[in-house]
Amino acid sequence: MTHDSVTLDRVEIPYSYKLSKRRTLAIQVYPDLTVVVRAPLGTNTSEIRQQVIKRGSWIQKVWQKFELNPPKQAPLRYVGGENHFYMGRQYRLRIEHGGEDSVKCLRGHLHVSSRQEPSPEVVKPLLEGWYRERAHHVFRERLAECFKGASFKGVESPSLHIRKMKTRWGSCSSKGRINLNLELIKAPKECIDYVVMHELCHIKVPSHGPKFWRLMAKFMPDYEERKRRLKEFAGV
Ligand SMILES: [Zn+2]
Repeated sequence: MTHDSVTLDRVEIPYSYKLSKRRTLAIQVYPDLTVVVRAPLGTNTSEIRQQVIKRGSWIQKVWQKFELNPPKQAPLRYVGGENHFYMGRQYRLRIEHGGEDSVKCLRGHLHVSSRQEPSPEVVKPLLEGWYRERAHHVFRERLAECFKGASFKGVESPSLHIRKMKTRWGSCSSKGRINLNLELIKAPKECIDYVVMHELCHIKVPSHGPKFWRLMAKFMPDYEERKRRLKEFAGV
């Protein structure tokens, strides 16, 4: 394997390549974000560079997909006795018919009571409403804390939006708007902070090149450990 890299719109794409007896050139992106090019014997390095540049935006898309992906857990059923996560801890669902519509987190349980017959169709929106309320509170606090820690000069505090996202924990727009996945409220606090800091660093460096990870390491020296924990959590 030979190592090389190209820079595309200020984004560095490091890759390694190998020539072998094959007919076509193929580019692969692995879950550890490495990029490997396999090319026919006799392909010269500038041809390989051209191909990596050509596929550059695709490579970056795959990187994003591998990097921050939310849990692939069994679909929740929203029935009594089922375990639901909140900030990294599991709480057993207790469902009650009668009284006010409410959700309370008490002594290892999530108590849901509803005026209507508490079918999963009724429990799900009640619980999601509760998660959303908690997410607003917790994410806002974590963003303020991380923003203070990052001490970016000349950067305004970004606006925060909470959304349901299928493939990502968070995203950041060039206008300094941070979107966080509602599901992130289920992850441990140190992982929430990892995603928040990650998106904050994107305000300075949009891509995932070495510059980006150096910035992460500066503001969050243990980011790799947090990233690993988030992956572990997502695997639940
Ligand atoms: Zn990112």
